[in-house]
Amino acid sequence: MASPAAGPGEVVVRVIASGLCGTDYRIWNGDRPVRYPLVMGHEFIGRVLAIGPGVGNVRVGDKVAVQPNFSCGRCPLCLEGNWNLCLSRTAVGIDVDGGFAEQARVPARVCWPAPSELADDQLLLAEPLAVVVRAVDRGEARAGQSAAVVGVGTLGLLAVQVLRARGLSVLAVGRTERRLDVARALGAGAVATTEGGGHAAAARAFSGREGVDLVVETAGTAEAVEHAVELARPGGRVVLTGLPHEPSRLNFFSVVRRELSIVGSMIYQGEFPEAVRLLSSGAVRTERLLTHRFPLDEIQAAFAAHRAPDSIKVAVVP
Ligand SMILES: [Zn+2]
Ligand SMILES: [Zn+2]
Repeated sequence: MASPAAGPGEVVVRVIASGLCGTDYRIWNGDRPVRYPLVMGHEFIGRVLAIGPGVGNVRVGDKVAVQPNFSCGRCPLCLEGNWNLCLSRTAVGIDVDGGFAEQARVPARVCWPAPSELADDQLLLAEPLAVVVRAVDRGEARAGQSAAVVGVGTLGLLAVQVLRARGLSVLAVGRTERRLDVARALGAGAVATTEGGGHAAAARAFSGREGVDLVVETAGTAEAVEHAVELARPGGRVVLTGLPHEPSRLNFFSVVRRELSIVGSMIYQGEFPEAVRLLSSGAVRTERLLTHRFPLDEIQAAFAAHRAPDSIKVAVVP
């Protein structure tokens, strides 16, 4: 394969590994249209092979986590710091070539150097972890409060750990029993399923009051949004970070009556360094999350594994 050349402000990285997520799956199966040809893959880490003119934040040989989103830098949203909401945001691996490759060319400003003691398998979770750090911070999480996490996939299992690191007690809520044992092992104080509808009672029992202070929704289904709202106490906060692609039948009467704050949380702004720090300190562990690994030339099997019942995070290794 021809090596891409680094232009001004750009770097070329040799990809170490690339995580596969639901967004990749939706592109692969055609649900999410993109412009072809496209090299997919946005959750990747690599080693800097070459730097273009004007690059100062990374050096050749650095191990980096790539933040696969960058913005125009000029619009009102960018200028006020809300670059993640920029209407001209570029997503690496979706709008431009990404990390399911041996090498990738990206702007240097989206490369975050990682400490050398941090293992590749940990660093690989930096991108979804940055999403979760923002969601937890948008929830104004405070030590001593009670929280619930809806969904126990990669984002949910990371959210359990970030909330624990912030000093909250956490109830993990899944659709079924599957993976709730992993949530427990990663710090959830209690677990509940939405099967049979006992989750709201579980939130009351867990918090010792009318519901939990903070709910972080990570599953991204219409149903999960409804469940999230049912878990919160009156006056509580609900942060939505899963992307529900279908409309929900949420009962807004209960939102008004209980003065809930519902906030969205979209990817990240400045959360990458904090994600790297949480991984380095051991506050967030990844070994139970990284369940499958495939070489790049078996990527079809990687996509199939993404949907397997025992799969949490699948990695593709060039
Ligand atoms: Zn992703
Ligand atoms: Zn912009």
